[in-house]
Amino acid sequence: MDTQNNIQGKVVVITGASSGLGEATARHLAAQGAIVVLGARRVERIDALAAALAAGGAQALAVKTDVTDRAQVTALVDAALEKYGRADVMLNNAGLMPHSPLERLKVEDWDRMIDVNIKGVMYGIAAVLPHMIAQRAGHIINVSSVAGHKVRPGSIVYSATKHAVRVISEGLRQEVKAHGLRTTIISPGAVDTELPESITEPDIADNIRKFYEIAISPTAFARAVAYAIGQPDDVDINEILFRPTQQEY
Ligand code: NDP
Repeated sequence: MDTQNNIQGKVVVITGASSGLGEATARHLAAQGAIVVLGARRVERIDALAAALAAGGAQALAVKTDVTDRAQVTALVDAALEKYGRADVMLNNAGLMPHSPLERLKVEDWDRMIDVNIKGVMYGIAAVLPHMIAQRAGHIINVSSVAGHKVRPGSIVYSATKHAVRVISEGLRQEVKAHGLRTTIISPGAVDTELPESITEPDIADNIRKFYEIAISPTAFARAVAYAIGQPDDVDINEILFRPTQQEY
């Protein structure tokens, strides 16, 4: 797998591939010769994306996946193994950000964030780890956030889930060293995706939409993923934090 860009021919499994960062990354990596395996609940979107990538000469597979169901995440990775014989990269990207102050008691939103942003990532790790350890190679990339480095009123549970992603990823990094695996945390600032639409409180959604006026293109994230994957096998990019140039927070 020591090709020039170290992306060509790699099988990359992406959760949350139906929009935003996941979709942009699938397009970017496929253009560089990666085989992409796309997971999300909105299967019509990932089917259309896989078809578009295939029409452009890439190899792509779409598998309907809800990351809150461990069996479905396992099935996503198993589909990659069955069709392509390996899974080189797992991009645990699916997530949601329904901000609200704790006093509004949006407990269902808290539960969904914990289920998708934390447990979904854990299920992704569980699905690839035995395989990657057996093949003594692999790369697990988990998506945190600037909110994984900071906390502010109104985004506490989201921030907690993204801090958890960083803690899990850093611990994972230390555990899997011995197996020759690579791990990367990517923490974006405001990127222009559907993420603000996951906010269930209208006044808060309005504020976040204003904050997102400075948001940058999802291709910024896709380039960060490609940078991490594209390094030679003996280089492990552990963490990338990026923001729009205009973003203070
Ligand atoms: P989008 O809302 O555009 O995409 C979110 C993706 O997650 C969708 O593909 C959605 O697919 C998927 N998803 C949500 N719930 C589930 C589920 N239960 N099972 C499977 N997939 C699910 O937002 P982004 O692209 O911005 O978000 C991607 C990641 O980036 C998230 O983890 C987010 O927290 C993180 N992030 C984003 C930032 C930004 O500014 N955009 C900043 C920092 C971090 P579907 O609904 O079809 O299942």
